Amino acid sequence: MGAVMARSDDNKSMDSSQPRYIRVHENDNVAVVVNPGGLPAGSRFACGLALVEAVPEAHKVALTDFAAGDAIVRYGVAIGYANRAIARGSWVHEDLVRLPEPPALAACPLATATPVPLPRLHGYTFKGFRNADGSVGTKNILGISTTVQCVAATVDYAVKRLKDEVLPHYPNVDDIVAITHPYGCGVAMDAPGAAVPIRTLRNLSLNPNFGGEILVVSLGCEKLQPARLMPAGALPVLEDEPSVAVMQEARHGFSEIVANITQLAEKKLKKLNERRRVSCPASDLVVGLQCGGSDALSGVTANPALGFAADLLVRAGSTVMFSEVTEVRDAAHLLTARAATPEVARAFLGEMAWYDEYLRAGGADRAANPTPGNKMGGLANVVEKAMGSIAKAGSTALMAVAAPGERVTQKGLIFAATPASDFICGTLQLAAGMNVHVFTTGRGTPYGLSVAPVIKVSTNTGLAQRWSDLIDIDAGRIATADATVEEVGWEIFRLILDVASGCKKTWADHWGLHNEFVLFNPGPVT
Ligand code: CA
Repeated sequence: MGAVMARSDDNKSMDSSQPRYIRVHENDNVAVVVNPGGLPAGSRFACGLALVEAVPEAHKVALTDFAAGDAIVRYGVAIGYANRAIARGSWVHEDLVRLPEPPALAACPLATATPVPLPRLHGYTFKGFRNADGSVGTKNILGISTTVQCVAATVDYAVKRLKDEVLPHYPNVDDIVAITHPYGCGVAMDAPGAAVPIRTLRNLSLNPNFGGEILVVSLGCEKLQPARLMPAGALPVLEDEPSVAVMQEARHGFSEIVANITQLAEKKLKKLNERRRVSCPASDLVVGLQCGGSDALSGVTANPALGFAADLLVRAGSTVMFSEVTEVRDAAHLLTARAATPEVARAFLGEMAWYDEYLRAGGADRAANPTPGNKMGGLANVVEKAMGSIAKAGSTALMAVAAPGERVTQKGLIFAATPASDFICGTLQLAAGMNVHVFTTGRGTPYGLSVAPVIKVSTNTGLAQRWSDLIDIDAGRIATADATVEEVGWEIFRLILDVASGCKKTWADHWGLHNEFVLFNPGPVT
């Protein structure tokens, strides 16, 4: 972004009651108040600027006088236009900001500013579970896949018993996870949109943390048959070792069904239990990035620090995925310029165009994105949210683009297209092959996933203090000048390696906070 962060003071040892703001880019004509609880009218910053009214924490203050129609510049770009005159020192709240048009996709530059590769980082490793297909697990989990919603409650019943009675005999296996969902029947399986949930379910089962030991539970009469969920090759052991339990084949009721699932599961558990962690290069990491419950500090503290960590990961040869189409749409022109090749830029534009049409068909547009909490947190609109959001993607070239639910195989920075909805994004990133997730939040969410560890980074210190047993890293220290973007970036990078090695636990895993899988189904229901 070429951002040069400027504080209203450059004195690191100021007392905490001194009014402070952060301006991200030298061209910005608004800045964000960072004092906890905000500032009252009359507060005077070290630069001499005085507030003409109270400004809440993480909200914007006008650094200049605006006439109606003037561009409101943050991150060096117009995040909107003044609805009316705004005096210097005023609170620039959402009602004063008119949403600009999104960048026209046809006019986006194609790979015109591809960043040169950063110096390679050598010597960083983690201890993971090496899989036959070359991927690496950060956990050792038995996954039980399902073809249809009808079997979900039964599989949940069997898994509960397995976890209580059987799993303790297999100490090298971390968990048993039922991949249950509301899909598989009563849907138009051959409609174009159906490809997304079907490949999501398939690729979820192939997540590296399941170690290739896939068990599928089917009802029998459903539309999504096991052979369609897992085509030839995806279940290599099908012939010599049964991996599919079909409920309607049971002749002795529920207890036989549960016994069948248990028997198949024990065979898989035996094999998984033989596995041991081995030293793996950091290039075997597939790290998914996401934000949720964002505020105006997201783009100042947590996301830039995560962007710095993303650059470190790319330098170490890892795969780094960012997602959330509606939160990058307004930065499309910046990301296509950063693409490695015009083909990558065009693939990115293809995903943007698909989503524009998806929203249009649903009678919505990108303005539907910011939540009431986002707005209370100081985000005026989706443009401001997008500029803060893409800071997570760091500064390296965009190497590839994946459609929703596709498995990612390339190294470097990848755009894996997903909705911004936290649970759909997390589910789709797991399908893409994610083995560690990093999640930034300003408002706070106890989000967690069963399949991959979720490291949560707070944008502000208040949240990290209120939720000290849910937030793993406090990036709010950047706003209070207690740490730099680079320091927090290195902290995130090192924690990723420790969590991937199983030697540190995220708070979400400590408490067992594992949200449901949520499919993205753009196809019709019948
Ligand atoms: Ca999200």
